[in-house]
Amino acid sequence: MTRIAFIGVGNMGAGMAANQAKAGHEVTAFDLSPVALAKAVEAGCSASNSVASAVAGAEVVITMLPAGKHVREVYGAEVLANAAPGGLLIDCSTIDVDSARAVAEQAKAAGFRFADAPVSGGIMAADAGTLAFMVGCEEADFADVEAALTPMARVVLRAGEAGAGQAAKICNNMLLGVSMLGVCESFALAEKLGLDAERFFDIASKSSGQCWSLTNYCPWPGPVPAAPSNRGYEGGFLTALMLKDLKLSQAAAAKVGASTPMGAQAGALYALFDGLGHGGKDFSAVLQLLRGKLDELS
Ligand code: NAD
Repeated sequence: MTRIAFIGVGNMGAGMAANQAKAGHEVTAFDLSPVALAKAVEAGCSASNSVASAVAGAEVVITMLPAGKHVREVYGAEVLANAAPGGLLIDCSTIDVDSARAVAEQAKAAGFRFADAPVSGGIMAADAGTLAFMVGCEEADFADVEAALTPMARVVLRAGEAGAGQAAKICNNMLLGVSMLGVCESFALAEKLGLDAERFFDIASKSSGQCWSLTNYCPWPGPVPAAPSNRGYEGGFLTALMLKDLKLSQAAAAKVGASTPMGAQAGALYALFDGLGHGGKDFSAVLQLLRGKLDELS
């Protein structure tokens, strides 16, 4: 049994904290939202009334917050000043690499072990305890980080030193955004060329066009029954979050001078789709923009 402080029990953090409690750990949760906090209590956590009181006495602190500014504020103002000496601090939010590195440095200077550990997998994976974690931390700390994340994980992979988890996450999601748009464009062209969509899927999925966006998450309804395209593009990975991750990857690319023209195009298309009011749809719904059939989205 480990004493865990869980800060940020929103859409993702709720299921993650619940899985820690289910694994027999003593989880103290804090969230600015009383509604989110009440749900965490229903799931077996105890509630705290501040970050400071949640982290005091915790052996492991896990944060799952919206963006870099929240993570910098929560660590800078509250976690580092109040966490138990020698505690293991793990931030699972998706944030910019610079913020992750800055918080890691501050944590190290204050005598803590810190890992950035963003996740792949959405709310369903968070609830099921099947997230993939990409970890940036010192090699010597990885075994403890992996053990702490295991109740929430399908797999825990070390990407490198501080910030490497965030770097891996934004590179992976840029690849995902670009590959999804490639799959959507191909279906849109196939349709105009008179190809049957199911037939095209059968051929591409057994040919060199095969990729995760096609065979696990097919944007065309039908061929992959579990894909969000079969339930009106509800649930899944929201367009707004894909746009967030593409903005992070473009900002990182600009900073280090990397050439990412496809990532830039993907960002522009998802910004357009989001701006048209579809930020709450799964990101594969962008197919309907490329088909010129936005009216098919409810
Ligand atoms: P969310 O908005 O549902 O949850 C964030 C929670 O943090 C909220 O409940 C909010 O009240 C709380 N919060 C904000 N500031 C706080 C503070 N100072 N102290 C305490 N609590 C505070 O967001 P989410 O969907 O759970 O996403 C969390 C993170 O996970 C984001 O970085 C997101 O990019 C990433 N992520 C989300 C998904 C997804 O499918 N939702 C998938 C992968 C990664």
